[in-house]
Amino acid sequence: MNLIKQKKRGSLIIISGTTCAGKGTVIKELLKKNENLVLSTSYTSRSIRKGDIEDVTYYFVSREKFEEKIKNDEFLEYALVHGNYYGTPKKEIENLLSDGKDVILEIEVQGAKIVKEKLPETVLIFVLAPSMEEVKKRIIARGSETKEQIITRFKTAYQEINEIPKYNYVVINDIVSSAVKKIESILISEKCRVDRIEEISVENKEEFMHELLMEKSFDNSYKEIK
Ligand code: 5GP
Repeated sequence: MNLIKQKKRGSLIIISGTTCAGKGTVIKELLKKNENLVLSTSYTSRSIRKGDIEDVTYYFVSREKFEEKIKNDEFLEYALVHGNYYGTPKKEIENLLSDGKDVILEIEVQGAKIVKEKLPETVLIFVLAPSMEEVKKRIIARGSETKEQIITRFKTAYQEINEIPKYNYVVINDIVSSAVKKIESILISEKCRVDRIEEISVENKEEFMHELLMEKSFDNSYKEIK
Protein backbone atom coordinates (compact mmCIF):
# COMPACT_ATOMS: atom_id res chain seq x y z
CA MET A 1 0.00 0.00 0.00
CA ASN A 2 1.25 3.47 -0.82
CA LEU A 3 2.24 5.57 2.16
CA ILE A 4 0.69 8.72 0.82
CA LYS A 5 -2.56 9.33 -0.95
CA GLN A 6 -2.67 12.63 -2.76
CA LYS A 7 -5.72 14.70 -3.54
CA LYS A 8 -7.27 13.97 -6.89
CA ARG A 9 -8.27 17.61 -7.37
CA GLY A 10 -6.22 19.34 -10.07
CA SER A 11 -4.17 22.49 -9.57
CA LEU A 12 -5.42 25.91 -10.59
CA ILE A 13 -2.69 28.00 -12.19
CA ILE A 14 -3.03 31.64 -13.17
CA ILE A 15 -0.66 32.98 -15.78
CA SER A 16 -0.65 36.73 -16.09
CA GLY A 17 1.80 38.98 -17.84
CA THR A 18 2.30 42.33 -19.43
CA THR A 19 1.19 42.90 -22.98
CA CYS A 20 3.30 40.99 -25.53
CA ALA A 21 5.15 39.05 -22.81
CA GLY A 22 4.60 35.98 -24.93
CA LYS A 23 2.20 34.26 -22.50
CA GLY A 24 0.20 32.79 -25.37
CA THR A 25 3.21 31.09 -26.96
CA VAL A 26 4.46 29.78 -23.62
CA ILE A 27 1.00 28.41 -22.74
CA LYS A 28 0.64 26.75 -26.17
CA GLU A 29 3.94 24.90 -25.61
CA LEU A 30 2.94 23.89 -22.08
CA LEU A 31 -0.34 22.44 -23.36
CA LYS A 32 1.42 20.52 -26.13
CA LYS A 33 3.79 18.88 -23.65
CA ASN A 34 1.44 18.22 -20.69
CA GLU A 35 -1.72 16.34 -21.46
CA ASN A 36 -3.29 16.79 -18.02
CA LEU A 37 -3.14 20.54 -18.48
CA VAL A 38 -6.09 22.47 -19.90
CA LEU A 39 -6.54 26.13 -20.69
CA SER A 40 -9.83 27.60 -19.59
CA THR A 41 -11.68 29.63 -22.22
CA SER A 42 -12.90 32.98 -20.89
CA TYR A 43 -15.84 35.06 -21.96
CA THR A 44 -15.23 38.53 -23.36
CA SER A 45 -17.24 41.41 -24.71
CA ARG A 46 -14.32 42.64 -26.86
CA SER A 47 -14.54 42.26 -30.63
CA ILE A 48 -12.73 39.50 -32.51
CA ARG A 49 -9.14 40.31 -33.55
CA LYS A 50 -7.06 38.95 -36.40
CA GLY A 51 -5.95 35.44 -35.41
CA ASP A 52 -8.69 34.90 -32.78
CA ILE A 53 -10.72 31.70 -33.02
CA GLU A 54 -14.30 31.82 -31.75
CA ASP A 55 -14.97 29.58 -28.71
CA VAL A 56 -11.23 28.79 -28.50
CA THR A 57 -9.48 32.11 -27.88
CA TYR A 58 -12.62 33.37 -26.10
CA TYR A 59 -16.36 32.96 -26.07
CA PHE A 60 -17.19 36.27 -27.73
CA VAL A 61 -20.47 37.71 -26.43
CA SER A 62 -22.19 41.10 -26.45
CA ARG A 63 -21.89 43.48 -23.51
CA GLU A 64 -25.53 42.82 -22.64
CA LYS A 65 -25.05 39.06 -22.64
CA PHE A 66 -21.95 39.44 -20.46
CA GLU A 67 -23.83 41.59 -17.94
CA GLU A 68 -26.61 39.00 -17.83
CA LYS A 69 -24.03 36.37 -16.94
CA ILE A 70 -22.69 38.60 -14.15
CA LYS A 71 -26.24 38.85 -12.75
CA ASN A 72 -26.61 35.08 -12.91
CA ASP A 73 -23.37 34.65 -10.93
CA GLU A 74 -21.77 32.59 -13.70
CA PHE A 75 -18.23 33.94 -13.22
CA LEU A 76 -15.51 32.93 -10.79
CA GLU A 77 -14.18 36.43 -11.48
CA TYR A 78 -14.54 39.10 -14.12
CA ALA A 79 -12.83 42.40 -14.87
CA LEU A 80 -13.01 45.39 -17.16
CA VAL A 81 -9.79 45.51 -19.17
CA HIS A 82 -9.15 48.26 -21.73
CA GLY A 83 -12.91 48.99 -21.70
CA ASN A 84 -14.01 45.41 -22.35
CA TYR A 85 -15.31 42.73 -20.01
CA TYR A 86 -13.39 39.49 -19.49
CA GLY A 87 -14.59 36.68 -17.22
CA THR A 88 -13.78 33.15 -16.09
CA PRO A 89 -16.68 30.68 -16.18
CA LYS A 90 -17.16 29.24 -12.68
CA LYS A 91 -18.87 25.90 -13.37
CA GLU A 92 -16.47 24.81 -16.10
CA ILE A 93 -13.41 25.39 -13.90
CA GLU A 94 -14.93 23.53 -10.94
CA ASN A 95 -15.78 20.51 -13.13
CA LEU A 96 -12.28 20.35 -14.61
CA LEU A 97 -10.57 20.63 -11.20
CA SER A 98 -12.79 17.93 -9.63
CA ASP A 99 -11.94 15.74 -12.61
CA GLY A 100 -8.26 16.03 -11.65
CA LYS A 101 -7.28 18.31 -14.52
CA ASP A 102 -4.71 21.06 -13.98
CA VAL A 103 -6.31 24.25 -15.23
CA ILE A 104 -4.56 27.36 -16.54
CA LEU A 105 -6.32 30.70 -16.43
CA GLU A 106 -4.68 33.33 -18.61
CA ILE A 107 -6.07 36.37 -16.84
CA GLU A 108 -4.87 39.79 -15.70
CA VAL A 109 -3.96 41.01 -12.23
CA GLN A 110 -7.39 42.16 -10.95
CA GLY A 111 -8.89 38.77 -11.79
CA ALA A 112 -5.89 36.93 -10.33
CA LYS A 113 -6.38 38.74 -7.02
CA ILE A 114 -10.06 37.79 -6.81
CA VAL A 115 -9.40 34.12 -7.64
CA LYS A 116 -6.59 33.93 -5.06
CA GLU A 117 -8.97 35.31 -2.40
CA LYS A 118 -11.67 32.79 -3.31
CA LEU A 119 -9.33 29.82 -3.87
CA PRO A 120 -6.12 30.41 -1.87
CA GLU A 121 -4.41 27.27 -3.20
CA THR A 122 -4.22 28.90 -6.67
CA VAL A 123 -0.70 29.28 -8.04
CA LEU A 124 0.00 32.74 -9.44
CA ILE A 125 2.68 33.03 -12.12
CA PHE A 126 3.66 36.32 -13.74
CA VAL A 127 5.35 36.16 -17.15
CA LEU A 128 7.51 39.10 -18.16
CA ALA A 129 9.24 40.10 -21.38
CA PRO A 130 12.96 40.76 -20.83
CA SER A 131 12.53 44.54 -21.34
CA MET A 132 10.03 47.23 -22.31
CA GLU A 133 12.08 47.83 -25.49
CA GLU A 134 11.41 44.21 -26.43
CA VAL A 135 7.67 44.69 -25.72
CA LYS A 136 7.64 47.74 -28.00
CA LYS A 137 9.27 45.74 -30.80
CA ARG A 138 6.80 42.88 -30.39
CA ILE A 139 3.68 45.09 -30.26
CA ILE A 140 4.73 47.01 -33.38
CA ALA A 141 5.43 43.73 -35.20
CA ARG A 142 1.97 42.40 -34.19
CA GLY A 143 0.40 45.44 -35.87
CA SER A 144 -3.10 44.81 -34.55
CA GLU A 145 -3.50 47.88 -32.31
CA THR A 146 -3.72 51.61 -32.96
CA LYS A 147 -1.15 53.95 -31.42
CA GLU A 148 -3.71 54.95 -28.78
CA GLN A 149 -4.37 51.33 -27.86
CA ILE A 150 -0.63 50.69 -27.64
CA ILE A 151 -0.19 53.62 -25.24
CA THR A 152 -3.05 52.29 -23.05
CA ARG A 153 -1.48 48.82 -23.03
CA PHE A 154 1.87 50.25 -21.90
CA LYS A 155 0.20 52.25 -19.11
CA THR A 156 -1.52 49.06 -17.94
CA ALA A 157 1.75 47.14 -18.23
CA TYR A 158 3.51 49.57 -15.86
CA GLN A 159 0.63 49.26 -13.36
CA GLU A 160 0.73 45.46 -13.60
CA ILE A 161 4.47 45.31 -12.95
CA ASN A 162 3.75 46.93 -9.57
CA GLU A 163 1.50 43.98 -8.73
CA ILE A 164 4.21 41.34 -9.24
CA PRO A 165 4.92 40.99 -5.47
CA LYS A 166 1.38 39.59 -5.05
CA TYR A 167 2.31 36.65 -7.29
CA ASN A 168 3.98 33.41 -6.20
CA TYR A 169 6.40 33.16 -9.12
CA VAL A 170 7.85 35.37 -11.84
CA VAL A 171 9.17 33.94 -15.11
CA ILE A 172 11.09 35.99 -17.66
CA ASN A 173 10.26 34.94 -21.18
CA ASP A 174 13.50 35.55 -23.04
CA ILE A 175 13.70 32.09 -24.63
CA VAL A 176 10.35 30.32 -24.89
CA SER A 177 11.68 26.80 -24.20
CA SER A 178 13.41 27.97 -21.03
CA ALA A 179 10.30 29.82 -19.79
CA VAL A 180 8.27 26.65 -20.44
CA LYS A 181 10.79 24.57 -18.49
CA LYS A 182 10.60 26.97 -15.54
CA ILE A 183 6.80 26.79 -15.43
CA GLU A 184 6.89 22.99 -15.69
CA SER A 185 9.24 22.93 -12.70
CA ILE A 186 6.83 25.12 -10.75
CA LEU A 187 3.98 22.73 -11.56
CA ILE A 188 6.02 19.72 -10.44
CA SER A 189 6.94 21.43 -7.14
CA GLU A 190 3.31 22.33 -6.52
CA LYS A 191 2.34 18.66 -6.85
CA CYS A 192 4.79 17.83 -4.01
CA ARG A 193 3.29 20.30 -1.53
CA VAL A 194 2.26 18.71 1.74
CA ASP A 195 -1.13 20.38 1.59
CA ARG A 196 -1.89 18.14 -1.40
CA ILE A 197 -1.75 15.08 0.87
CA GLU A 198 -5.16 13.60 1.53
CA GLU A 199 -4.01 10.77 3.76
CA ILE A 200 -0.84 9.25 5.22
CA SER A 201 -1.37 5.59 5.85
CA VAL A 202 0.85 3.56 8.20
CA GLU A 203 -1.85 1.10 9.18
CA ASN A 204 0.33 -2.06 9.04
CA LYS A 205 3.11 -0.63 11.20
CA GLU A 206 3.10 -3.29 13.98
CA GLU A 207 2.96 -6.16 11.51
CA PHE A 208 5.67 -4.63 9.38
CA MET A 209 8.00 -4.06 12.36
CA HIS A 210 7.50 -7.63 13.51
CA GLU A 211 8.39 -8.99 10.06
CA LEU A 212 11.40 -6.74 9.99
CA LEU A 213 12.69 -8.24 13.24
CA MET A 214 12.25 -11.74 11.87
CA GLU A 215 13.85 -10.95 8.53
CA LYS A 216 16.61 -13.46 7.82
CA SER A 217 18.20 -11.87 4.80
CA PHE A 218 19.68 -9.09 6.91
CA ASP A 219 21.78 -11.66 8.79
CA ASN A 220 23.06 -13.08 5.51
CA SER A 221 23.94 -9.75 4.02
CA TYR A 222 25.69 -8.83 7.26
CA LYS A 223 27.82 -11.95 6.97
CA GLU A 224 28.60 -11.21 3.33
CA ILE A 225 29.84 -7.73 4.16
CA LYS A 226 32.00 -9.11 6.97
P1 5GP B 1 -6.58 40.28 -24.93
O1 5GP B 1 -7.69 41.20 -25.35
O2 5GP B 1 -5.25 40.80 -25.34
O3 5GP B 1 -6.83 38.87 -25.39
O4 5GP B 1 -6.57 40.22 -23.34
C1 5GP B 1 -6.45 41.38 -22.56
C2 5GP B 1 -6.22 41.00 -21.11
O5 5GP B 1 -7.36 40.34 -20.56
C3 5GP B 1 -5.04 40.04 -20.92
O6 5GP B 1 -4.24 40.58 -19.88
C4 5GP B 1 -5.69 38.76 -20.48
O7 5GP B 1 -4.84 38.03 -19.62
C5 5GP B 1 -6.92 39.26 -19.76
N1 5GP B 1 -7.98 38.26 -19.65
C6 5GP B 1 -8.34 37.30 -20.53
N2 5GP B 1 -9.34 36.57 -20.06
C7 5GP B 1 -9.63 37.04 -18.82
C8 5GP B 1 -10.58 36.69 -17.81
O8 5GP B 1 -11.37 35.76 -17.92
N3 5GP B 1 -10.55 37.43 -16.67
C9 5GP B 1 -9.70 38.46 -16.47
N4 5GP B 1 -9.74 39.11 -15.32
N5 5GP B 1 -8.80 38.82 -17.40
C10 5GP B 1 -8.76 38.12 -18.56
